[in-house]
Amino acid sequence: MRQVYLDHSATTPMRKEVLESMLPFLSEAYGNASSVHRWGREARIAVEEAREKIAELIGASANEIYFTSGGTESDNIAILGTAKAKENKGKHIITSSIEHHAVLDSCIELEKRGFEITYVPVDSDGIVNPEDVRKALREDTILVTIMLANNEVGTIQPIKEIAEITKEAGVALHTDAVQAAGSLKLDVNDLGVDMLTISAHKFYGPKGIGILYVKRGPRPKPLVYGGNQEKKVRPGTESVANIVGMAKALELAVLEMDEVNERLTKLRNMLIEGVESSIPDVILNGHREKRLPNNANISFLFIEGESLILSLDALGVAVSSGSACTSGSLDPSHVLMNMGMDHQQAHGSLRMTLGRGTSEEDIEYVLEKLPNIVDRLRAMSPLYNKVKE
Ligand SMILES: *Cc1c(COP(=O)(O)O)cnc(C)c1O
Repeated sequence: MRQVYLDHSATTPMRKEVLESMLPFLSEAYGNASSVHRWGREARIAVEEAREKIAELIGASANEIYFTSGGTESDNIAILGTAKAKENKGKHIITSSIEHHAVLDSCIELEKRGFEITYVPVDSDGIVNPEDVRKALREDTILVTIMLANNEVGTIQPIKEIAEITKEAGVALHTDAVQAAGSLKLDVNDLGVDMLTISAHKFYGPKGIGILYVKRGPRPKPLVYGGNQEKKVRPGTESVANIVGMAKALELAVLEMDEVNERLTKLRNMLIEGVESSIPDVILNGHREKRLPNNANISFLFIEGESLILSLDALGVAVSSGSACTSGSLDPSHVLMNMGMDHQQAHGSLRMTLGRGTSEEDIEYVLEKLPNIVDRLRAMSPLYNKVKE
């Protein structure tokens, strides 16, 4: 049976070149980068070369790159660490209503600690209006955190416009660029952000490694304490192999970006248009153009996304509904609900995210199987039968 992985927003397979770049640091080159001897120096050189490469790829300086354990930790440091550093200046933070849980739950934690959070709304495509950010700014606002591209519907936010507003107000701007890294050109100066989060396993790198970019100037306070690594913003022995692998993965992703995006956009459109022309009562979620090249999020009315996932899984096709983190819970996705959808549409949503390995045959296979699955599930749906009577 054909195996089709269409869940690249959850994670991506590590590239062979990435694994190869890591292997020496998982075997003979096992030094601790803080040690003074040859083993240590070898590890230190690898870490600092990776830092320089990553900095160059996102238009930053090496001393603005902090290695963390991934997207979740970088988001937490950016938000909780900035709150700790600036709580004497103010206790107000602005974010959007469609952020990843790493951001939302950090904000909810701060609410418990006496901070006030403004959740700016999004339109029906899932896009923030920069003017809403301007209106939400207050004297005591210490941070704005808005994602660059959404992990469920793939919509891309106007971060540059938001950055102009925060700059004018003198408020720090953080962006969760985890979904954008590897798909969109990332230049921290062009974007105008003060902090930016990326995670290697979303661009064919290893899991458990990410960066937080922090523009030179005031730094967030650490959330954990230990050694002097990462200028104490994130102490702990460097994960040398993961760091080396992440740099390699980002280098390759940037190198091949245009070519991969062109191919994936075609395949993605073939998938969306194929579904729209062969299955009635479907709705594309998110903006048709301002979305990641690999993202198709479609609601199939009158059925549950979860049943679609299971039926497709039985045919070798991996997709998701909502985000990987909310799958398994019965709550409809907060992203779709905050885009103004009703429960029905939100529950019937399916996220299909393509990747480097996706072929035209894969998409044809899905388009061949989906109509029957949807028919079968709808035939069992009391709601569907009632509406169609
Ligand atoms: C995956 C993801 C994260 C979490 O990153 P991890 O490295 O898995 O902790 C954060 N934000 C977004 C938008 C993501 O897609």
